Amino acid sequence: MTPPDDATLQAILDRIALEAREDPDKGRVADYIPELAAIDPDQFAIAVARPGHPTLIAGDAATPFSIQSVSKVFTLAIALGLRGDRLWERVGREPSGQAFDSVILLELERGRPRNPFINAGAIVTTDAVLSGTHEPRGALAAILSFVRDAAGDEKIHINDSVAASEIATGHRNFALAHYLLSHGNLENPPHETLGTYFHQCAIEMTCRQLANAGLFLTGCDDAPGLVSPGRIRRINALMMTCGHYDGSGDYAYRVGLPGKSGVGGGILTIVPDKASVAVWAPGLNRYGNSKLGTEAMQRLSDLTGWSVFGTAPD
Ligand code: GLU
Repeated sequence: MTPPDDATLQAILDRIALEAREDPDKGRVADYIPELAAIDPDQFAIAVARPGHPTLIAGDAATPFSIQSVSKVFTLAIALGLRGDRLWERVGREPSGQAFDSVILLELERGRPRNPFINAGAIVTTDAVLSGTHEPRGALAAILSFVRDAAGDEKIHINDSVAASEIATGHRNFALAHYLLSHGNLENPPHETLGTYFHQCAIEMTCRQLANAGLFLTGCDDAPGLVSPGRIRRINALMMTCGHYDGSGDYAYRVGLPGKSGVGGGILTIVPDKASVAVWAPGLNRYGNSKLGTEAMQRLSDLTGWSVFGTAPD
């Protein structure tokens, strides 16, 4: 399949946004974080960033949303920069096949989380970033500055009300952090690591900003060089195998690209050597991943031939 030119790609994005708007089944907005429960599910946005091209958008691509677990990709990149491969002594690299906030898996595996994208594993990577900067304020400044550099946008910020909402209600995450501590796999006090984690999850971005922020993972020559090419390969591998929790196999089957979802309804997907795509639709499917976002990415993959497994549609 020949790569789409800008006009063709724009027409594809417009078509995908229209189909999403017309779909009566929007999924269910995450309601376990009170601030997210109030989000209007009738919103949809998609953005495609490629070095040397204008970032193309369709739908509500200028509306900021809570990136939630998409932030785990950025903290993993920072933690690997700080700790290198020693990070893998504290967290594994296997798909979990369990819910994103599973407690039982952590107990079965004696406090070493299965991968850095389930909540327990992300708490460990945030803890590593916190140890490298010594206090939550410094860790958050490092995370925010990484994300701003990646997106080339200094306006990206944290929504403190969303973070406060999770601090007040995130009992499962507190349980995970204390369990990690009981196994010697937390270096900082749980409230400090979790305070940092909840604020990192509460970063807000528009689809346009998020697509731009993912460019460093494409490996394109003129994308921001924030991490080494070897590390880009490894992070993409983890996004492919673990980026959608117990729906990771389904996303790989349907989309065939490395991606990371968040319960705010955002998904960042990387087309290696080509593009970074952000999609946002707040309603979730049964795995806690954006329902319309996943469907939109499947359409985009089919219509462009963007997949690491080949270009032919069904
Ligand atoms: N802040 C959310 C939590 O820890 C992130 C989960 C997600 O986006 O999947 O539960």
